[in-house]
Amino acid sequence: MVSRVIPVEDFDLVIFGGTGDLARRKILPGLYRRFLAGQMPDSSRIIGAARSEMDDAGFRDMVAEAIAEFGGDEGGDAACLKRFLDRVHYVPVDARGEDGWAELAKLMTRKGCEVRAFYFSVAPGLFGDLAERLRLHKIADRDSRIVVEKPFGHDLATARDLNATLAAHFAEDQIYRIDHYLGKETVQNLMAIRFGNVLFEPLWNAHYVDHIQITVAETVGVAGRGSYYDQSGAMRDMVQNHLMQLLCLIAMEPPSMFDADAVRDEKLKVIRALQPIASDQLVRGQYAAGDGQPSYRDDAENPDSRTESYIALKAHIANWRWAGVPFYLRTGKRLKARASEIAVVFKDLGHSIFPEDESRHRNILSIRLQPNEGIDLQVTIKEPGPGGMRLVDVPLDMTFADALGPEAEGVPDAYERLIMDVIRGNQTLFMRGDEVEAAWAWTDPIIEGWEARGDRPVAYEPGSSGPEDALMLLHRDRRRWRDIKTEVA
Ligand code: NAD
Repeated sequence: MVSRVIPVEDFDLVIFGGTGDLARRKILPGLYRRFLAGQMPDSSRIIGAARSEMDDAGFRDMVAEAIAEFGGDEGGDAACLKRFLDRVHYVPVDARGEDGWAELAKLMTRKGCEVRAFYFSVAPGLFGDLAERLRLHKIADRDSRIVVEKPFGHDLATARDLNATLAAHFAEDQIYRIDHYLGKETVQNLMAIRFGNVLFEPLWNAHYVDHIQITVAETVGVAGRGSYYDQSGAMRDMVQNHLMQLLCLIAMEPPSMFDADAVRDEKLKVIRALQPIASDQLVRGQYAAGDGQPSYRDDAENPDSRTESYIALKAHIANWRWAGVPFYLRTGKRLKARASEIAVVFKDLGHSIFPEDESRHRNILSIRLQPNEGIDLQVTIKEPGPGGMRLVDVPLDMTFADALGPEAEGVPDAYERLIMDVIRGNQTLFMRGDEVEAAWAWTDPIIEGWEARGDRPVAYEPGSSGPEDALMLLHRDRRRWRDIKTEVA
């Protein structure tokens, strides 16, 4: 199977914060990979803009180092890298002052380039300054696009402010709010599986689905970014955006077409149909010290911290399709494996014709985001060989690396895909302003609830599956979490 690379239109992409961590780890190596794949037109330019004093040559050295350190040079050679770096420029710019803006404006006067995109890879506190100055200096016009990173607000009020600030200078169809989970191959495949096959959609409802689990587990702690994380916590940092987006794609009604607003309208309806969460539907945890590693509170340098590094909750969507079906969400740091998965657990057979008690056999559709992006469907078959009609569950594995062979390696990572979508002007995989606000409107009262009650997170062992209380959340419902594991069974 050969994946097709369709070049995008000629573009100029300005990366504000081009010297920062995100640009070096993800954006710049990703752009080089797209260049190597032939997707980036020869005349296109990438312009770093940040506070550091540097010239083109200095920035090109930095970009080359970032590519060498964070990958992206597979299949390229020195000549390719040079051709890419020739397209890279740098302007020192101060978002908060006037320095550098005239130079940037001058650089952006290139004729014949239709697409101008501005990636705000800087702290959200600078978004308003950048938006305003881009307009003031006539660097951006009605056709330009801006890309903004998470976190998009700290709560509903700040998200509204941020939306209003951006809306003062750019229309909604110019604003690309990144949630990189939406750029993952498997997440899009989730839509293909649901809406491109006749098999699944008839079963995708409360009649056939027992429950759904969404897990995003990490092995790392918060060391190095503890003071930022302590102001945020797992609910704000992960659930309000990434897990919520996954939930939306799993639960939404089929859009009438695969179009940005049609998809986002359906996602919005899911968020608005989420019921409030009571205190017994939620468990928060903090990792304890262990394995020679510090505790969460030590990493956060806050001995009294009440911020959660783990959260598990049971959500319900109040509509006809999902009435009574629990959605169990959990995410945490310092867990036993780095694994992200959505599992659709179907109901038991209504009646088993087989001799032994087969109630334990269930169909499970599991969508793995990492590692080994792929989808598998657990089906029940006869155990091979003599010995009567004994049943066994086996996965029908659709790991892309196996199905697509070497071509799977050419699959762009989330950032690459999303940046190319910005250039194409396709907003389907970006969050709309009203979606983000609706997500905060659901999240805020949950956080306010535990703050008002003075709840403290419970401690959990590092390297475990999370707090015992989180296991109980499902046991009470006679269900179990799926194992958090790195390798597919
Ligand atoms: P960083 O601190 O490493 O880099 C910040 C960049 O902003 C630098 O290039 C700096 O020169 C520039 N900058 C700071 N003040 C400026 C000013 N006044 N004018 C012009 N430029 C200025 O930050 P980062 O980790 O790259 O994160 C950037 C954004 O991306 C943040 O909003 C962050 O929340 C978000 N984000 C980062 C990651 C990540 O993995 N690093 C992941 C998701 C989201």
